[in-house]
Amino acid sequence: MTHVYNTDPLQVHRHYEIDYIHSYGEVSEFFIALKKKKLMATRCLSCGATWLPPRRDCGKCGAKTEWFEAPLQGKVHTFSVLHFAAEAFLPEVPFILAYIELPGIDTLFLTKIKNCGLEDVYVGMPVKAKFRRLVDWTPNDIWFEPA
Ligand SMILES: [Zn+2]
Repeated sequence: MTHVYNTDPLQVHRHYEIDYIHSYGEVSEFFIALKKKKLMATRCLSCGATWLPPRRDCGKCGAKTEWFEAPLQGKVHTFSVLHFAAEAFLPEVPFILAYIELPGIDTLFLTKIKNCGLEDVYVGMPVKAKFRRLVDWTPNDIWFEPA
């Protein structure tokens, strides 16, 4: 029992439940495409910089971007094996989190590597995209595996 200022702290138990509704706004196309097993990136209409995750406004020059289909095969740029993670991911530890290089994409794509031994992943490893059959509308709808 804890005493605060000589009084037992008052504890009130109430059931708490909410539906959390949010929007992906102008990058909704990225999540909709995952359901179609496509990976969508954006290209700046002014300087040509390519973005994945997509951006509706260029991070280099601020101009608008257009959508295009990104390749589904690339290679591991760098990786980390996670033995601890946020609560939602604890049941999955240990797992591999990696930055993926994709041809024609100027940025790196952060994602999980699945179906790969923790000792088998390496920088430069060829990988291919895989998609969740029943989408959850989250970044976890896509991951990569050894190609
Ligand atoms: Zn630009």
